[in-house]
This record gives sequence, C-alpha cells and structure tokens, in this order.
Amino acid sequence: MNSEADIVIVGAGAAGIGAARRLAGCGVSISVLEALPRIGGRAWTVQTPAGPVDLGCGYLHSADRNPWTRIAEDTGFAVHRGPTAWGQQFRDLGFSQEDQEAAWTAFSRWTDRIVTAPPASDRASDALDPGSPWSAYLQALSGYISGDELERISATDYAAYSRASTNNNWRLPDGYGTLIASAMPTGIRVHPGTSVERLSLTGRRIDVHTPKGTLRPRAVILTVSTNVLAGSSITLPPELDPWCEAACRLPLGNNEKLFLEIVGDSPFEPESHVIGNSRNPETGTYYIRPLGRPVIECFLGGAGARAAAAGGSDAAFAQAVDELATLFGSSVRPLLRPLASSSWSGTPSIGGGYSHALPGYAESRLVLGRPFDNRVFFAGEATNPADFSTAHGAYHSGIRAAEEVLASLEASPR
Ligand SMILES: Cc1cc2nc3c(=O)[nH]c(=O)nc-3n(C[C@H](O)[C@H](O)[C@H](O)COP(=O)(O)OP(=O)(O)OC[C@H]3O[C@@H](n4cnc5c(N)ncnc54)[C@H](O)[C@@H]3O)c2cc1C
Repeated sequence: MNSEADIVIVGAGAAGIGAARRLAGCGVSISVLEALPRIGGRAWTVQTPAGPVDLGCGYLHSADRNPWTRIAEDTGFAVHRGPTAWGQQFRDLGFSQEDQEAAWTAFSRWTDRIVTAPPASDRASDALDPGSPWSAYLQALSGYISGDELERISATDYAAYSRASTNNNWRLPDGYGTLIASAMPTGIRVHPGTSVERLSLTGRRIDVHTPKGTLRPRAVILTVSTNVLAGSSITLPPELDPWCEAACRLPLGNNEKLFLEIVGDSPFEPESHVIGNSRNPETGTYYIRPLGRPVIECFLGGAGARAAAAGGSDAAFAQAVDELATLFGSSVRPLLRPLASSSWSGTPSIGGGYSHALPGYAESRLVLGRPFDNRVFFAGEATNPADFSTAHGAYHSGIRAAEEVLASLEASPR
C-alpha cells in the first residue's frame, strides 16, 4: 500500500466510487480501502443460472435525474425504462380490488399528512388514522421503504425524500451492482479485503491503521454505513464523537432479498406482482418474473427482514414459498427453488439495509456530512439530506466529499 497517498477513501461502495471518480485526474494520489473482498458495498449483482440478480440496490430511483443512468448510458449498459409492477396485485389474489383501493387510500392519506401537516412529535406513526384497518399494511410498506416501523421513522426525514423523488424507477438488465462496481475509475489503487481498524490524528495528517499496514494521508473520506460508524469495528478519535452520535440517530433499517427460481410451467406471469398478506406487517412483497426471467424476487423490510435474518435463509425461503402457495395454490411449491439471498444485517462491514432518521433527528444527516478539521470527510447514503437510502444519494455524497477535500487541499497546499 502507498503509505503516503494524499487521500484515503474508506469503503468502495457507491459513495466511495463517486468520490474516486471525482478525484481521478485531479493530480492527487488516492488509495481506496475496502473491508469486503469485492467492491460495490450494498450494490451487489450475483450471477445465477436464471440470470443476474441484485442482492442490494436494483432500481434506478428518480431515474430521470439519477447520475447512474447517465453513467450506464455513457458506458453501454442497457437501461430498462418500462414501468414496474409494484402496487398491483396479480389477479387480486388474496387482496380484493376494494381492499387494494382502501389500503392505497390509507397510504396516500398518511403520506399527504406527513408532507403537508407532519405530527408535532415528528413520529411517522402519529400520522396514522387512529383505528384504521390498514395499519399493518402501512407498517409493511414502511419496512420496504424505510426498513423499520413507523414509530422509529422521522416524518421530516421521510417527507424530504418524498419531495425529492421523481418516482421514475428504471432497471438495469445487467444489474445495478454490475454497473456500480464497473464504475471505479482505472488507475486508482483499490485494496479489497482491507479493513480499517483505527484512525488517529497525527500532526496535520491522519494515521489509517489496517492489518496490512498504516497509511498516513492528508485527508480521509469515510463512507462506511451508519451502523459501522455507530459500532465498534473502527476505533475513531474522540474528536469524532459528534459524528458517531449523529450516526446513532440515523440507523440502518433491515432489508433483505430472497430470489426463487421458477422451474417448469407455472401460473407466474412476467412482470407481475403480489404482496404476500396485506394484513401482516412482516409479509414479503414479490416481484414475479422481472424482465421476463424465471425468477421471483421477494423483498423483506423491517420486522419481516429481522425475522428472516434471525431464522436463517432456509426458514425465510420456506416462509416465502408458503406465502406464494397460499395465493397461487400448493401446486406451485415444487416449481420454486431457492436461488440466492442477501444477509446485509449479518455482514459486519454493512450492518443492515439503509438509513432512516429517528423522530426528531432529520438534521443529523447534515451533522454527519460535515468535515472534521479539513482532514476527515464524510460521505455515504446517510449523509444525503434528501436522496438518502439510495445508490444515487450515495454517489452524490461521494462527489460532495471529494470536492470538499479538493477545496481544502487547495486552501492549504503542502
Ligand atoms: C436490500 C436492499 C435493496 C436496496 N434497493 C435499492 C434500490 O433499488 N435503489 C437504490 O438506489 N438503492 C437501494 N438500496 C440502497 C443502496 O444500495 C445504498 O444506499 C448504497 O449502495 C449505499 O452506498 P454507500 O457507498 O453509502 O455505502 P456502502 O455500499 O455500505 O459502502 C460502504 C463500504 O464501506 C466498507 N467498509 C465498512 N467498514 C469498513 C472498514 N472498517 N474498512 C474498510 N471498508 C469498510 C463496506 O464493506 C462497504 O463496501 C438498497 C439496499 C439494500 C440493502
């Protein structure tokens, strides 16, 4: 490793790659340290016999203004601009048209209140209609969207995302993870399988300690998740306590994916969707044969994702097959085979799904994104005040942090 690199980027996810792209060609030497043996972080496409599947980010949210859309186009990646099947229940299975309309109205009313008349408590659950029969459904949606129960979601934070989103969700047939990992600029020193164990402040520099040696750059861009910052895997100097406190207020929720392969003739139609049980907050949401592939993507959030992580992948697959068999009939059981599953909360260098602010703490995103002493700079999805919890929010945060570093190096040349 280059012990005298000007800048060390900790983490090779979307934020670290964004920072590396901004800094490449600026006349500074850069090292990227990544704990996992691969780059991409929460962007990870795995190849399966049924085609590539994304265990982490899969949709180009706000795709019309998403920088990854442009990067895909510039580098020859196909972009699928068709609509998604979300929100529709295939043949109204287990969820009558009338109930779907009532549930959707409850969600729209709740969203309107969050955006236009947020509760004084800032607790998203306080905007629920008391006595509404659709609270379990809204909790399930909160799990998918925010990774946690409404009681733990800041209404202000949720509204900031909602206002910024353009609701265009496009897809990448080769995988979002494939695109993001391929976007690391060439010519940058990237060190996969290299965990940063400690940062210490030394003179005007910083010591970055790893099992493979110590680097002493002029600036560090820290892109690790909030659960990593709030945990104990990296020892940080006490001067960074306010950043760790902000990270505690922006925890990662729980989000996991399971992929089932469809074998043989089945009633599963391409580009269709079902929610497992609209009365169960732990239920999965199932995207059937995305892009025509013989696959069902089961998405779990909040309590459902926690239960899957606690019970292990065999139990989670069995639960998913049970929910599908209840809707489509038990004849589908032999047609469904486990293909791939995520374990984000069980991956120590990630620790969960994506960040949400606890009630009263939406401004913690700005606190987390501030630089420290022109030496330690912070990026990562959680530092983005409106596009948090996304790969494009992470990318923008990396660009922002890189520009802060460049400005500080210019202001105090060696
Ligand atoms: C199931 C799921 C579905 C999602 N779906 C979407 C979606 O459809 N669209 C979307 O836009 N977003 C989605 N997201 C969110 C998106 O994936 C993330 O917001 C984004 O990838 C985060 O990028 P990041 O660079 O901020 O963090 P990360 O990807 O977590 O990168 C940080 C990196 O730091 C590394 N690291 C941690 N500790 C250390 C250490 N001590 N030393 C060295 N390296 C370390 C980690 O291994 C990691 O690679 C989804 C996420 C999940 C989990």
